[in-house]
Amino acid sequence: MPCKTGLRFISKKKSFASLSAIAQSIHSQRCGNATGLHADEVAAMAWAPFPPITPRRGQYVLLDKSTECLVHSVLFPAPLSKGILTIPTADSSLLLGPKAKDLPLTEKESWETTREGLSQVLNGARKLVPNLPVDQVLKSFAGLRPEPAGGDFVVGPSPIRGLYHAGGMRSPGLTAAPEVARFLVHEVMAPELGLAKKPVLIRSGPQSPRWKIFRMRSGCG
Ligand SMILES: Cc1cc2nc3c(=O)[nH]c(=O)nc-3n(C[C@H](O)[C@H](O)[C@H](O)COP(=O)(O)OP(=O)(O)OC[C@H]3O[C@@H](n4cnc5c(N)ncnc54)[C@H](O)[C@@H]3O)c2cc1C
Repeated sequence: MPCKTGLRFISKKKSFASLSAIAQSIHSQRCGNATGLHADEVAAMAWAPFPPITPRRGQYVLLDKSTECLVHSVLFPAPLSKGILTIPTADSSLLLGPKAKDLPLTEKESWETTREGLSQVLNGARKLVPNLPVDQVLKSFAGLRPEPAGGDFVVGPSPIRGLYHAGGMRSPGLTAAPEVARFLVHEVMAPELGLAKKPVLIRSGPQSPRWKIFRMRSGCG
């Protein structure tokens, strides 16, 4: 269900769920809760227990394309942690960050950047690249990671029949997503539903083209 319509209500019917949004209702026997920061609220709509999710804000700074030749690969501040990185982007600019900060439960819409956070990003990046032109800032922005109490993903069936969770997907949730989906479908739902694995489909014909994501940085000497 797209967020535009916004899931507002889950009612338990005989065969399980009826999902209601602003504009429409959907009836389903199985439903997956993969609503990121809001997975605890969506679970509560079905009276399913779920650890509270707090937002962890990460702030970034994007530098102008004039920094193209400064850094040629992602720099990590090893051996401490992932920390603040400098990341050459596909369109030749330089991304710095993130600086992480835990926010209270009530601040799930706090996407704003702060003076303190941005200067921490620039200071952290300067430790990796001392001659960083910090006057070349193009824009800054923030993202919110879901941080579940207990610190672990919540993946699997809920105690409410037909409701499955893939929530609390803190970092590295993006990296883990394909395996989480495979686990949920093949190892949790398929045995419950008595689904058999189909034989592997072997494709023939020409291979699909490989997309060149990173354009070569030319003229950097
Ligand atoms: C700054 C930052 C850096 C990160 N770095 C990394 C990294 O390096 N590596 C990595 O693997 N991961 C990283 N992550 C984490 C990664 O982005 C998350 O783990 C991942 O996005 C979580 O996926 P999700 O599907 O659970 O939630 P989301 O991607 O947030 O998707 C949830 C979806 O549910 C929708 N939704 C919510 N409520 C409702 C509702 N009531 N009704 C309908 N729809 C709803 C939302 O609109 C959204 O589309 C980072 C995150 C941030 C913010």
